[in-house]
Order: sequence, then C-alpha cells, then structure tokens
Amino acid sequence: MNCQSCEKLICCPEHCCDWDNCRCKDCESCGGIGGERVKIPSSSTSARSTNTNFTDDLFSGGLRTHKKEPERSIKDIIQEQAKERLRKQQIEDNLRQAEIESKNQIERARHNEIIASSKAAVEKNKQLLESTAETIDRLRNVINGVKETEKKFKDFQDEFDRIINTGLLSCLGSFEEFTDIDKSYGIARKTTIEEIVSIISSHNSIAIITGAGVSAESGVFTYKNNSETWEIGGKKLSLQEVMNINILESNPLEFWQNIQYNRVRFASCNANKVHYALSDFIQYYNNIGRKASLITQNIDGLDRKILGKNPNLYEIHGNTHEMRCKLNCCEIIFPCPPLNDMIATVPMCPKCGGLARPNVLLYGEGYTEEWYRAETASEVVKSADVLIIIGTQSKCGFPAQRIREFIKSRKHIIEINVEPVIEFGNTYVLPRSCGEVVPQFVKAIKSKVKK
Ligand SMILES: [Zn+2]
Ligand SMILES: [Zn+2]
Ligand SMILES: [Zn+2]
Ligand SMILES: [Zn+2]
Repeated sequence: MNCQSCEKLICCPEHCCDWDNCRCKDCESCGGIGGERVKIPSSSTSARSTNTNFTDDLFSGGLRTHKKEPERSIKDIIQEQAKERLRKQQIEDNLRQAEIESKNQIERARHNEIIASSKAAVEKNKQLLESTAETIDRLRNVINGVKETEKKFKDFQDEFDRIINTGLLSCLGSFEEFTDIDKSYGIARKTTIEEIVSIISSHNSIAIITGAGVSAESGVFTYKNNSETWEIGGKKLSLQEVMNINILESNPLEFWQNIQYNRVRFASCNANKVHYALSDFIQYYNNIGRKASLITQNIDGLDRKILGKNPNLYEIHGNTHEMRCKLNCCEIIFPCPPLNDMIATVPMCPKCGGLARPNVLLYGEGYTEEWYRAETASEVVKSADVLIIIGTQSKCGFPAQRIREFIKSRKHIIEINVEPVIEFGNTYVLPRSCGEVVPQFVKAIKSKVKK
C-alpha cells in the first residue's frame, strides 16, 4: 500500500498512511526523522501500540513486516503524549528562537548596512568638507589676489595721478620757475620777419625746436588741451593720460588700440607748408655749408616723411609709426602694424616675441640717446648760435632746458608762437601763427644767403 503522504513507499496502514505526514524511518520524504508516533486511539480501551520496530532483516517480498510491541498502559501513553507535546513545544521554541535569531540577524545586517552607509556618508561629508575647505582656501586666495590687484591698481592710479600731476604741474609753471633766470638777462621783445631773416642769415648754426603748433596747421589733433577720452580699465583717460608707461604696462592692448587709433588720424593728415618750409631750410642751410637742425617734439612723423633719413632731423619724442621691443632685446626699430590692423592682440617684438611698444617717449619716462638721440640733439642746440622756437609752449622738458641755457648764454632766441611764452633773454618774439611766418622767412633766407 502506498504512503498517502509521500506515495512512494509501502507502509503499514496502521502506522503510517493514515497520518497527515509520513514519519516512518525509511520514508524518502521525511529522511528518516521521526520514528515514534502515537496515534490516539478512538477509544482508550482499544488503544494499540503505535510503536513499530522493523529492520532491513525483516524486509522481504517488497513488504515491510512489523514486530508487534506489547500493549502500553494509558499512563504510558499519556506520558508519551506529554513527552511529545514537550518535544513539539521545544521545536516550536527552537523555531521561534531561530525566527528571532533570524530577525535579529536581519536587524543586525540592516544595522550594519546603516552603519556602513552612515560611515560612507560621514566619509563623503568629510571629503566634502575637505574639498569645501580647499575651495574656501582657493576662494580666499582669489579674494586676496583680487584685493592685491585692487591695491596694485589703486597704487598704480595714485602713482599715475602723481606722474600726471607732476608732469602737468611742472608744465603749468612758466620760465619764472627757473629762479636763476630774470630780467638781468634781458627782456623779450617783439620782432618782424625782416629782423628774423637778418638774425638767421648772420649766423652759421641754427637750431629749430618745433611742437604741436606746426602739425596743428595740418589738422593734426593735439594731445594737450584735448577733451577726448579713451576708456582704459573702466576709467576714462585723456589722450595725454593714456600716453603713459604705466598704462602700456597695465593695459597694453587698450593702450595699443589708442596708439593705432591715433596713428590712423595722424596718417590722414599731410605735411603742411610749415613742414615743407622747415625741411627746405634744413636741407638748404646744410647744403650751403652752414648748420641747421630741426628738433621736433611731434610724434606724427610728418617731418620724417619729407626729410627721410636726414640726420639733421631729431624726433626727440619718437615716431608713433615705429615700434621697438619693450624688453630691449635688440636695438632694431620696426614699423608698427599696418594702419588697417584693428589690434585684436598686442603687437609683439618680431625678434623675441615679447611685448612691443611704440618708439615714443611716454609720460613717466626720460629722454634717451639710444632711442631719441636726445643727448646729441641737446649738444646740437647748445652749440647753435640761434635757437628758433616754433609752435610749442616749451614750458617743460627738452625745450625749456634749452631755452634756459640760451638765455643764460645770452645767445639769440627767436620765438614764433601766437601766444609767446619766453619773457627773458636775448629773445625776439613774433606773436603770429607759424603758417604765416615760416614759409616767408625761409624764402627770404634762401634768396639772401648763398654759398
Ligand atoms: Zn508512510
Ligand atoms: Zn509507515
Ligand atoms: Zn512517507
Ligand atoms: Zn624683443
């Protein structure tokens, strides 16, 4: 008969098959656990043994035979049932224990997981904090850098204002600032073209210093008394303020863009009759064996355009169409970028690739022999017999010093300015525009003075 539970083995019907789950020893389903089973009999008197005891020896003919055990007493049965209940109880307890343990394990695992993720979070926070600290440090550095830059810019502005003010103030004063010069050297007097021609023609060496007044007649803008501004570093600067070595160093691109803008304007102007007359005079006078030098403070290159490489022309403030290496890597003077170049990038020295600068004397700089032949020009003027001042206020810098020397040496000074500035010395002033005067006296001298 098949087991009702596992349906695999043939078991004794009394013992096994009427149980819900077979627990007989050889059952493949239960794996042999169990063994003792007590079936409560339908009546206490008809109780029969539930104990089976069979061995392989007794196995024969495909049937298991069971040894009959002696009948048990009710007391025994009850005891066994109590035992069984206890065992069940223990199993249940064990199960419950296992369940609790399992729950605890799950709980612990979850706990560990939480701890691990907390640790990870803490670690992450730590890293975040560290990187935040780093960021803060970096920001602090940036802020310090900004502060430093601000301070530098402030210092630069202060220095800039100082330079500009010093430059302007020293120019605002008149020759009266030279306390060693007074009326004891004579007082300037008005003159005529005839007298000018007479003075010049009776001397062999003539030095002429010109300024903005000459180019102004060509429509060239002037740096002085100009209300135009150029924005550099968010600040509106006058054209004169831009022409400063500090601006070149702090804002080279904007500086160069202004240079280029002005170059285009210069280039649109042609040399005028004063330029031509003076160039004519320089060439003529040197050609007839006399000595004449033209020292211009203009950077527009208009005199150079006519006189070319003539060594008797001195551009003591340089030439804005020329540039050189800011690092002084070489003594080469290069042409500036073409006039149609918008200067998107700072011009570079073709030789070393460093920053280039215009070959122009900037505010905050001094005259040099190397770039402007200033010493030679100075000697040329000192050795001249007559100094002619044309179209320049001459109140500071190169012309002021030369005029002072001339006053002290009591040599002839001729000043052609609409508003003359020289008060003392052996000075002859013609308060007229140079355009009216210069071509006339040059023409007169050429016809009067021959080889
Ligand atoms: Zn069975
Ligand atoms: Zn059985
Ligand atoms: Zn079974
Ligand atoms: Zn260079």
